[in-house]
Amino acid sequence: MTKNETGKAIDGAAANKNFGAEPLKPSKEITAIWKQVHKALRGEFGEAVFRSWLKPLTLQACYHGTLEVSVPTRFMKDWIQTHYSKRILEMCTEKDGSIKRLEIVVVQNAIPQEDEGAATQPKANENNKSSDQFEIAAPLDERFTFDSFVVGKPNALAHAAARRVVESASVPFNPLFIYGGVGLGKTHLMHAIAWMIGDKQPEKQVMYLSAEKFMYQFVKALRSNETMAFKEFFRSVDVLMIDDIQFIAGKESTQEEFFHTFNALVDQNKQIIISADKAPSDLVGIEERLRSRLAWGLVADIQPSTYELRLGIVKAKRDQLEAKIPDPVLEFLALKVTSNIRELEGALNRIVAHADVSKNEITLESTQEVLQDLLRSHDRRITIDEIQRKVAEHYNIRLSDMHSARRARQVARPRQIAMYLAKQLTARSLPEIGRKFGGRDHTTVMHAVRKIEELSNGDASFAQDVEILRRALTG
Ligand code: ADP
Ligand code: MG
Repeated sequence: MTKNETGKAIDGAAANKNFGAEPLKPSKEITAIWKQVHKALRGEFGEAVFRSWLKPLTLQACYHGTLEVSVPTRFMKDWIQTHYSKRILEMCTEKDGSIKRLEIVVVQNAIPQEDEGAATQPKANENNKSSDQFEIAAPLDERFTFDSFVVGKPNALAHAAARRVVESASVPFNPLFIYGGVGLGKTHLMHAIAWMIGDKQPEKQVMYLSAEKFMYQFVKALRSNETMAFKEFFRSVDVLMIDDIQFIAGKESTQEEFFHTFNALVDQNKQIIISADKAPSDLVGIEERLRSRLAWGLVADIQPSTYELRLGIVKAKRDQLEAKIPDPVLEFLALKVTSNIRELEGALNRIVAHADVSKNEITLESTQEVLQDLLRSHDRRITIDEIQRKVAEHYNIRLSDMHSARRARQVARPRQIAMYLAKQLTARSLPEIGRKFGGRDHTTVMHAVRKIEELSNGDASFAQDVEILRRALTG
């Protein structure tokens, strides 16, 4: 810090001006010092603050013991001045004792310093497909692209809307709200959008994260008094994608913050994409004003899958895995595993893995065997009412005896069998089953289950009777 030093002490306002006399380009040494300090700020104040406030600080000049740095806005200048300038000066002085003052000036279009080391420019996914440019953002799954998304009737609208968002030069609707049941492809579509914007418009800052993570970040910012940085950060993205918004149900302050972020981004004409498990109007625990905002743009649902879509998906998956799976097996899967796509994929993976290990070909028989447990739970839902009816019929007793307090063996035993089958064939808990049997206690149900097991073990014809009933119900 010698080049600009004149030896003359200039104080106050005068020190802030250069009077146009000397060349202001900072020396190599000063530039190096500033680089070190600027880099150290990240560790000193944390990533969020650094990104929002300190990263844009750009060294402009150094003269008479004054280090002059610039920021792009007046607001930033004030903020840094009150919150961080003291410490920044200290850090500079530690490196070079002749630096006595820090002057922050506003220079519009100041070019942010490119620092080495950590990737900082939050640019959309270039080569780093892991997209970890934001610690805040969630990583994108490489498999979740438009190419791998099979379009069918149930998801056609959501898919078309997603394509519109990535293909439009402007914001076609705001927000895009995608909703549907679990495992139907909401997250897949969201990632596909993020990937494609990254490809087509890499200058855009795309931020994808779950509502849960949004809340976590917000609470963290609150705790460390960094809400300003938090706000700035979220308001600076071009595309904000929040997955599973239902998560912030009942979380009032997070909703409030999200509401403001939402409005700020809409005002700036930035794209927002939201997913949820329900339509905006059905979101319980979400404030009315937020619910109505969420429905402002395009609301697109993903319906439960159809056989055709499921078949399309397993076929696509077979091609992807390059696995040898006969068509009847795929048809069987599409027919049987109907709950959601995630389970369908899981079933397919399982039979492929099994064939790999056993070195056997995949056949309809092997598939049924490997998926036995899964298929059982996917079979038609059996209700307790049905069980009671069937058992009463079988033993020729009245249906009302299933609920009655009568303890005669000829009604008590069938009732126990019905309880046993209810435990075996439904997902109901013991207390729930007890309630269905005339408000009996769960210990009574437990006792019934044990008793029937015991009898079945000791008496082959009794066991067969129970088995016949089970088959009739699961048939
Ligand atoms: P959600 O977020 O709605 O719970 P996901 O997006 O996580 O569901 O989807 C679950 C799984 O099903 C993922 O592996 C996804 O790739 C797959 N999937 C869902 N819909 C489709 C589709 N239309 N085409 C291909 N794969 C799909
Ligand atoms: Mg999801």
